[in-house]
Amino acid sequence: MKYAGVIVDISHEKLDKTFQYAIPDELAESVDIGTRVNIPFGSTRRTGYVVEITDTPEIEPDRIKPLAGVAARSVPIDERMIKLAYWMKTNYGSTVIRALQTVIPVKDSVKNAVKRTVSLAVTKDEAVLLLQECFAKRRSAQARVLDALIKDGESDYSLLSCKLNISPSAFKTLEQKGIINIGSTTVYRNSLHVSEDKVAVRFLNPEQRCISEDIIFGYDSGDMTPCLIKGVTGSGKTEIYMEIIEHIIKKGREAIVLIPEIALTYQTVMRFYRRFGDIVSVINSRLSNGEKYDRFCMAREGKIKIMIGPRSALFTPFKNIGLIVMDEEHESAYQSENIPRYHARETAIELARMTGAKVVMGSATPSLEAFYRAKKGTYKLYRLDRRAGEGRLPAVDIVDLREELKKGNRSMFSGRLTELMRDRLSKGEQIMLFLNRRGYRGFVNCRDCGEVIECPHCAVSLTLHNNRMLKCHYCGYEQEAVKVCPKCGSKHIGTFKAGTQMVEEELHRYFPDAAVLRMDADTTKGKESHGDILEKFASKKADILVGTQMIVKGHDFPDVTLVGVLLADGSLYSSDYRAAENTFELLTQAAGRAGRGKNPGNVVIQTYNPDNYSIVHASRQDYDSFYEEEIVYRELMDYPPVSHMMSVRLSSPDENEAERLSALVAGAVRVSESFENTRVIGPADAPIHKINDIFHKMIYYKNKSRDDLARIKDYIEAYIKNNPRLFGGCLVQFDFR
Ligand code: ADP
Ligand code: ZN
Ligand code: ZN
Repeated sequence: MKYAGVIVDISHEKLDKTFQYAIPDELAESVDIGTRVNIPFGSTRRTGYVVEITDTPEIEPDRIKPLAGVAARSVPIDERMIKLAYWMKTNYGSTVIRALQTVIPVKDSVKNAVKRTVSLAVTKDEAVLLLQECFAKRRSAQARVLDALIKDGESDYSLLSCKLNISPSAFKTLEQKGIINIGSTTVYRNSLHVSEDKVAVRFLNPEQRCISEDIIFGYDSGDMTPCLIKGVTGSGKTEIYMEIIEHIIKKGREAIVLIPEIALTYQTVMRFYRRFGDIVSVINSRLSNGEKYDRFCMAREGKIKIMIGPRSALFTPFKNIGLIVMDEEHESAYQSENIPRYHARETAIELARMTGAKVVMGSATPSLEAFYRAKKGTYKLYRLDRRAGEGRLPAVDIVDLREELKKGNRSMFSGRLTELMRDRLSKGEQIMLFLNRRGYRGFVNCRDCGEVIECPHCAVSLTLHNNRMLKCHYCGYEQEAVKVCPKCGSKHIGTFKAGTQMVEEELHRYFPDAAVLRMDADTTKGKESHGDILEKFASKKADILVGTQMIVKGHDFPDVTLVGVLLADGSLYSSDYRAAENTFELLTQAAGRAGRGKNPGNVVIQTYNPDNYSIVHASRQDYDSFYEEEIVYRELMDYPPVSHMMSVRLSSPDENEAERLSALVAGAVRVSESFENTRVIGPADAPIHKINDIFHKMIYYKNKSRDDLARIKDYIEAYIKNNPRLFGGCLVQFDFR
């Protein structure tokens, strides 16, 4: 008799262990490690995952219940992914089932996996006319669909939508207009003929060739040291990735390409399609479960060999992964905000270790962690210091806003910025204006007493919208704008600093003829995705794009020759030890947007801290000097990457309880002799100490050894488990840096 160790599909600490079931003969064939099974559990029935199979019963065999069957429509987990899930549980804190759920992005196979197809409902000639109309009206998504259908004929719906980055609504519009038919067929047809327009392979320049050959040589000789390419924006990193991918595919293996969702644009994806054709697929958060399932199946069956996507693309069930590329390595989106709070970099390296794959990271502004390891030799470091194609690095001016005020300029645009904007508008060149979200939050305060209007449920200020409503960005609370100060009665109350909306209004005042597009969390919540807005800007429908962090990342607009950072200081004041790193990264990335085409670019950085080292080094795009200065601070303070850091967030609806319990947790580790080398800081209020009427406390642990911190996590988890009555009403979350 064989026995299966099963993890029950419920996330609860008490159930965070395997339960043993007998495998009846009739299931012996179909049950394997990773199979999702039905099990009798207490008086009910549950599902769970088989994580081990053994001959040895844990208790008397006749007391072990048999499995009830294999769960219907279930997707099995690869054994390797189970190992990865356990690794995530150990390293980030999680129940096993939650870790398992993370590595299987789709749980159920989709009912009657019908393939949908798209075809023209009009003649080709009519389609060509319609295509021209779409171009004229700049309906570019519809134009792409028409263009593809004219060239390729009937196509697979999900492939087409993913290749061309088309939303379901664009298809629906075309269908409603009677231009296309969306049909369904149960036969799978891979009907995209991309190979026709595959472009000739570009020749790499000597610097690029040197790097790609060295990495390929390392790969071929079995040296799987992770690599970091530190290359300025536009230096040709993506071309290098593609060169290495091509080699790995030729060797019969597969590649995962991680790109932060925000940089996963149509242009980027298309570059991979043009080079590799149908073996490329993309996943992103907008896909339905059915579409994700389809793509994962194709990967498992070997129909897809390159998967591009955000961090969850790591869990693509390839049989033979040879390479994991991680573009924009520094991006904070690579860390999951859900439990387990895994970081894609560490997880990719672990996955690569398990599968014998190579990891190649790239960034213009590597995270301090990655660069520190590269300098120590844990990663192999490569550099690209100049742009590959056209375009030179821009000229940067730092403007001291205190001086502007002295000159009597009270607008958001300094003299230098205004002058350059006039110049670019007159030449028909494009401008990007960037606002550090944390700086200009549009909060309302009293000029007389300083009172700031805050959310009654969260410890954050409310933000003014349309001059009418005050809103909370954390919990959604709304109230009418106030006319007088609730504290002192003064009428001098209003927005102190402006949001993107205010910038837009000021632009209309100072530059009435300029066409302005705005992109922030508000404008992208509606119908238009940020992709749509960027596309409008790319097709030159606007002269100026105003936005928050979102516009800074990885987009390539050759006609942008001026980037203005309206206030650089915002992120300097956050309570995070990475404040300077974040500021440097944002400014460098923002500056990298200018002058990517033929015309040289200018960048204007407006600030109240013109001497701050992160601003000065960013203005020179001088990563190395920034790194040298920043690492001294990290060493002094024992911050990562010099030490490892774990934070514990304890949340409770009762403020006193949050205080008491977090003190207990901190104290438990402080007195334990086995953790002598650990610095314990706190407990203290979380940066935002109250969200939605829940109170949050933080405790930080610093240690040179990551494993020691993982042991502390286990210790705290056990401590909490052993005191269920105390900790019953609170939530404890771990986070590793
Ligand atoms: P990165 O990924 O470092 O930002 P890309 O690979 O996107 O850089 O390259 C930036 C631009 O330079 C792209 O338009 C690309 O087509 C072009 N480019 C890259 N390598 C070369 C090369 N060897 N010769 C000419 N142009 C190149
Ligand atoms: Zn007041
Ligand atoms: Zn709130």
